[in-house]
Amino acid sequence: MDDQTDDQTPAEKPKAAIEVDDVTGGEQPVRVGVADSEPNPTDADEVDRPERLLPLRETVVFPGVIAPVLVGRPKSKALVEDLFASEGDDKMLLVASMKDASVDAPSSDDIYDVGTLVRVIQMLRLPDGSLKLVIEGVERRKIVGYIQEEPFFVAVSNELPSTGAESAEAEATLRSVLATFQRMVELAPYLPEQLVVAAMNVPDPAALSDFLASNVNIDIARRQELLEMTDVAERLEEILRILTRETELLEMGSKINAQIQGELDDQQREFMLRRQLEAIKKELGDDDGLSDFARLRSDLEAKDLPEEVRTETFRELDRLESIPTMSPEHSVIRTYLEWMLELPWGEFTDDHFDMAAAAKQLDDDHYGLERPKDRILEFLAVHEFKPDVKGPILAFIGPPGVGKTSLGESIADAMGRRFVRMSLGGIHDEAELRGHRRTYVGALPGRIVTALRRAGSMNPVIMLDEVDKLGSDFRGDPSAALLEILDPAQNDSFRDHYLGIPIDLSHVLFIATANIADAIPRPLLDRMELIDIPGYTEPEKREIARRHLIPRQLEAHGLDDGRVEIDDDAIDEVISAYTREAGVRTLERQLAALIRKAARKIVEGAATPIVIDAEWASEALGPQRREHDLASETDEIGLATGLAWTPAGGDVLSVEASIVPGTGKLTLTGQLGDVMQESARAALTYIRTRAVGWGIDEDWAEHHDIHIHVPAGAIPKDGPSAGVTMATALASALTQRRVSRRVGMTGEITLRGHVLPIGGLKEKLLAAHRAGLRTVVIPDRNEKDLVDIPEFVRDEIDIIAVDDVDQVLAAALLPRVDDDDGAADS
Ligand code: ADP
Repeated sequence: MDDQTDDQTPAEKPKAAIEVDDVTGGEQPVRVGVADSEPNPTDADEVDRPERLLPLRETVVFPGVIAPVLVGRPKSKALVEDLFASEGDDKMLLVASMKDASVDAPSSDDIYDVGTLVRVIQMLRLPDGSLKLVIEGVERRKIVGYIQEEPFFVAVSNELPSTGAESAEAEATLRSVLATFQRMVELAPYLPEQLVVAAMNVPDPAALSDFLASNVNIDIARRQELLEMTDVAERLEEILRILTRETELLEMGSKINAQIQGELDDQQREFMLRRQLEAIKKELGDDDGLSDFARLRSDLEAKDLPEEVRTETFRELDRLESIPTMSPEHSVIRTYLEWMLELPWGEFTDDHFDMAAAAKQLDDDHYGLERPKDRILEFLAVHEFKPDVKGPILAFIGPPGVGKTSLGESIADAMGRRFVRMSLGGIHDEAELRGHRRTYVGALPGRIVTALRRAGSMNPVIMLDEVDKLGSDFRGDPSAALLEILDPAQNDSFRDHYLGIPIDLSHVLFIATANIADAIPRPLLDRMELIDIPGYTEPEKREIARRHLIPRQLEAHGLDDGRVEIDDDAIDEVISAYTREAGVRTLERQLAALIRKAARKIVEGAATPIVIDAEWASEALGPQRREHDLASETDEIGLATGLAWTPAGGDVLSVEASIVPGTGKLTLTGQLGDVMQESARAALTYIRTRAVGWGIDEDWAEHHDIHIHVPAGAIPKDGPSAGVTMATALASALTQRRVSRRVGMTGEITLRGHVLPIGGLKEKLLAAHRAGLRTVVIPDRNEKDLVDIPEFVRDEIDIIAVDDVDQVLAAALLPRVDDDDGAADS
């Protein structure tokens, strides 16, 4: 401990003299086995010796290993200068790694306490002023204390000799280590072969472990751990673990490489074999064993393909031949060629049009619908005379279940054409109509081409269902594509992205359907000839059931032999108590349910014929499905009955208004759309202007909150036609006069209280009739539409045409009665 000056050199001298005389830097990459070989008797007794200590970043120097070190920090340079100014030939110092390389000015706490005593075998001054040392590890040192930290570190350390190098364990591990190391160098392209030779020449296990420790690929912390291990067997085991893992990784990499190589070879081999096989078959004249491929070719050759299609198809066919079957591209081309094969190129059904037969067909299939049938026949007549003049597209507009699809089928039947239906509901993406380019994985043609394939002819009737439900968003606008499909100037060369060749759609008869015309994209609407099918009255439904639905369902259930009958009362019962619809779809379903129940009774042994009457029907179908029709059981304050036009036909709709003390807020609930909210505000403004005339305080509005609610909140509602209904509910709430529950109303309202016309009058009046309303207030400008309203509806409903809200209120509001519970009955 006292011996703390720089004259440590005498102690080192004998050792240094052993071998190092003129090792110059860079002459050989590594030098091993220098130290430890001949401990000097004078320092064998573990004397603590002070040494200059150089902290190292990102480097651990092992005994016997030569390493370059760059010295840039002033403190470290001071150390080196001091070392070289000192006496003695051997320049020895301690090196130890820093725990955290990012620390700029390390203190003794930042330095690991196991380091290495090294000899400096070369010092170079670099032009930038920094120094480069080449050092050689001599022995492990345990740092036991620091004598000084400034101007550089001087530390006291003692040697940590390696132990157990001679053990059998170390010997055994050594062999595995060498074998694994050799394997690793073989696999790793970046490790030179000489390393193995160098390793073989390392004299003893301890030195070998240090040599490998500084050559394997591990981080500084693990390298430091290896430096701190004094037991040689332990050190070798750890190194073996590291080498084994490294080797496994390398092996995995080369296996994957080999696999890829192998796959390529297989494909090439298969291709060669196929070629040979075909050649052999040709040679042997073995024709009936036509290959898959040859069959595809002969099928395609037999097809009457248009010129452009033929060119493209056979180009792809040639390409297919040269692509190995295992390649993904092979199946892509194959699918394409199968589509080409299955499309009905050049196939047309013969039109056999006969006006009388067509009229009969339409009548046979449909009850009523006189106007639509006339319009259809006119359309067909024009089409017949001038098949080339492309008229507008027929579009059937009406609620579900009114026979739009079945009219389309009858048209196809009457013309002798095939019929395919394709729904456009919810299509957002142009590619659904036009297909995806073949470069996309899993690409297929669009719906138009698919429909043609299903039809099996190039001149089918294609029904475009639900054109009003086409979406359009960032994925593209399908209505633009549809427009092109329907445009006679363009559709003789429609391009499907998948097929990539033009298809002639000009012989297709397109018919569209929609629930509501307003929702059809405008440019499409302009191309269409609209035929309204507004829905059926109850007597019409009864006839449809009697003539069409029941016979059809009886036949479908194998009971059309008179064993089951459904009488008119039963039909009326089903219509009025179990359905609430403009069309006849639910009616048909309920009738089918009755027939199934009857069938079951017959199987169970009931006597036939079974005659289904009203009682039988209501017993079989269970509790009535239909809610009470009238909006309310009694006449109420603030509750008015409106009429709505929905995609499913007409319906009644109640509007509730209530006025409570508050600060003038207006609340609207029941999922009202923007237009409906605006019309609520207009109604309120009008009612406020009228309030004074009704004897209401001028500033009532500032002291009250108003709430308008339209029940059945889950159903979104919109449109202006509830304006008069909201005004009536408000007026009722304000004046405390009850609204007659038997009065329905519809009409748009202006701020001045004018009533404007509305759409869907027929549907609304039919719904009012179904719901049992006996008075309906309508805008006078809708009076002209009354010609479309069936006789019996006009007979049973008192229709009041108005042009002003005051007239609505006069018809709907009952005189004020003073006792609160006595509802006036109308
Ligand atoms: P939509 O296409 O308008 O939704 P459908 O054509 O599918 O309606 O009609 C539903 C069912 O009602 C079909 O079985 C159809 O034959 C039948 N139907 C509708 N209207 C009539 C009618 N006027 N005469 C006979 N059957 C009808």
